[in-house]
Amino acid sequence: MPELPEVETVRRGIAPVLEGASIERALIHDPRLVRPFDPEIVARELVGERVTAVQRRGKYLIVRFDSGRALLIHLRMTGSLRHARRGALAADPHTRAVLSLDNGSDVAYRDVRRFGTWEMLEPGELGPYLSRRLGPEPLGRLSAKQLGLRLAGRRAPLKSALLDQRTIAGLGNIYVDEALWHSSLHPLREAGGLDLEELRSLHRAVRRVLRLGLERQGSTLRDYAAPDGAYGTMQDEFRAYGRDGQPCHRCGHGLTRTVVGGRGTTFCPSCQPLPR
Ligand SMILES: [Zn+2]
Repeated sequence: MPELPEVETVRRGIAPVLEGASIERALIHDPRLVRPFDPEIVARELVGERVTAVQRRGKYLIVRFDSGRALLIHLRMTGSLRHARRGALAADPHTRAVLSLDNGSDVAYRDVRRFGTWEMLEPGELGPYLSRRLGPEPLGRLSAKQLGLRLAGRRAPLKSALLDQRTIAGLGNIYVDEALWHSSLHPLREAGGLDLEELRSLHRAVRRVLRLGLERQGSTLRDYAAPDGAYGTMQDEFRAYGRDGQPCHRCGHGLTRTVVGGRGTTFCPSCQPLPR
């Protein structure tokens, strides 16, 4: 599932196509994308809107319009965006929506599993919507101490607390497992139980794996690809995610897979020990 680096890579790819353009035609083929709203009504609302900016917050893409409204796109499991010159998009049974722009481009939203969402927000709704759901951006001004304050007093497993978008925004299963490996922290550590040194190490690891993910243009698993169809290479950098049974890059011990809060979790039982 696309996480912060993948969504940011999509944003960087699609922003130059969308920014400054007006939507001439909007087709929403899949009612699930905009439910509970009528896809034809949403499509009609989009027509005539001019895009002022394409931003990202956590795993959300935000398409801002000069009317003050915003289209909030969440890619969930398998959503992605493609663009091509008008009429040049390849036929694709998984296309759920197409926007035709006045600059001669078509932008298609593709989603195999169909969990992705498009939400139109009225002026003034975006800020409250996002602040209810998302903690701070981990690559912003977040300090190790602030991360500590957000974890303080929480009995939940560290992995679950980091997957909670209200702790910090943008992490999912891949980058949490990677960050825990880099900081040598067991995924079942109590979230509120880290000392300052461990917090610093976790903070550094979270930023490091996200930056690496951005550099590598995300990881390509299943259906994720950047808007120009390119694939990321972060999967070549994985130290924990998906490597169960393989040797740890740090100590050589075999990595173990367990389930934490319903999510498959891979870690090194030797260098990410659970303190007694
Ligand atoms: Zn190890």
